[in-house]
Amino acid sequence: MNIAQNIERGRRIFPQKTALIFEGQCFSYEELDERANRVANGLQNLGIKKGDRVALYLPNIPEFIFAYFGIQKLGAVLVSINVMLKRDEIWYILNDSGSKAIITTEKLRSNVPDRDLVDLGRVLLTDSPNATGLKLEELMAISSPIFQCVEMEPKDPATIVYTSGTTGFPKGAVLSHGNVVSNMHSQRYSCGITPNDKLLLYLPLFHCFGQNAILNSGLNAGATIILQRRFKLERVMQAIAQEGATMFFGVPTVFAKLLEENLDEFNWRSVRYYFSAAANLPVEIVRRWEEKFGRPIYQGYGLTETSPCASYNHPWKYKTGSIGMPIDNVEMKVVDENGEEVPVGELGEIIIRGPNVMLGYWNRPEETAKVLKNGWFYTGDIGYMDEDGDFYLVDRLKDMINVSGFKVYPSEVERIFYQHPAVAEAAVYGVADGIKGEVVYANVRLLAGASITEAELMAFCQERMANYKVPHKIELVDSLPKNATGKILKTVLREEAMMRKQ
Ligand code: AMP
Repeated sequence: MNIAQNIERGRRIFPQKTALIFEGQCFSYEELDERANRVANGLQNLGIKKGDRVALYLPNIPEFIFAYFGIQKLGAVLVSINVMLKRDEIWYILNDSGSKAIITTEKLRSNVPDRDLVDLGRVLLTDSPNATGLKLEELMAISSPIFQCVEMEPKDPATIVYTSGTTGFPKGAVLSHGNVVSNMHSQRYSCGITPNDKLLLYLPLFHCFGQNAILNSGLNAGATIILQRRFKLERVMQAIAQEGATMFFGVPTVFAKLLEENLDEFNWRSVRYYFSAAANLPVEIVRRWEEKFGRPIYQGYGLTETSPCASYNHPWKYKTGSIGMPIDNVEMKVVDENGEEVPVGELGEIIIRGPNVMLGYWNRPEETAKVLKNGWFYTGDIGYMDEDGDFYLVDRLKDMINVSGFKVYPSEVERIFYQHPAVAEAAVYGVADGIKGEVVYANVRLLAGASITEAELMAFCQERMANYKVPHKIELVDSLPKNATGKILKTVLREEAMMRKQ
């Protein structure tokens, strides 16, 4: 077992088929595999061996993918670094993971602290011939295109993905070859990816969603990946018009933004499938999408710690608003504070068991023990299961707002905001309050051209929800802060609101 057998299999079956398209450049399965072999040989010649950690601090460029598979072939452990991180955060991850090499670009390199460059001794750059580090391209050029993929046990670590944690320092979720292989198969079959498909991949490759759910599942199916540096409307539309992208993977904020654009069904002519995950997808967005473009948005649910997919809302049993049922070989339960399963329809914490559950957090046995108990992974997400066994996600446990003892789930209040035709995006969060413990705050962005006041929105809420859920404060904003995957950073909103309050 080795994740990289993914591309070796593709090479055996259809060597000349296009595996990857990037800014007009095409790479066949054979070319992709050959480049990965060159990286594996090159790293081996530098002394990197099975089990060593190699960090990738790269944007979405083909070298990420060559390096990704090269590292896997060698049996080394890939450490994904978010390109938005800065010096201290990078220093933390390189040291925490004990990385022996880092592959980055000349531009990003300035964010890597010098002390690490010295300690690491191995910096591979994907560009700039004048760079003082080793150039990946040159290393690949002098390395053999043939490499015997190292066989791995299912429990052998493959990647350390640092969770996007918005507070404190992130923890590295260690995913094994078995975790990733099982998950890419399930995702591939759940979404029905075929060799004829072309998957648009603009979500960051350093995150589990881009890396496993799209890249690995797509290549496992023998499909073509259309790689883009980031989400850019013109590029996305170009990929559909010129390359004929068939599958579109996004996060709720992307779907919300696309609904605001002047697009119609024709703009999406080649796309047969839409998928959303990573954050709460308001039912209203799905309804608007289906009404405008004639197809639903299918939804998956998961976490970095579950490689990532855990459940999927199947097309043949589609329920709007549901995160669906657990994927193959995965179990999900809703439990109370004592770990006891709660009755159908009751809220509790979602827990997950299956081959997709991470090995643990890198060098963090105590943190691991808090979330992995008796083989079950405790997600920290609140949800419930209906009588058909379909799951619904309500919120993160830590995002729940406690107003004088009344529990308010932000997603419930956001759902109401989305019912208002002027609302483009809404973020609801709790802010500490001396009297009530916490109060509800909402930041709302209106659709272009819409005009409605904060007071009118407040009245809209008052008519539709219990008093304790009605936001204490509604603020109309021009934009909402988001992380690289597109999730709204509520911690930032909360901190800003707290500062304004003082
Ligand atoms: P990450 O580890 O960065 O992928 O974040 C995982 C978290 O994203 C989960 O714990 C959920 O809170 C959230 N999430 C993932 N998928 C969904 C979904 N379909 N609906 C709502 N939240 C989701």
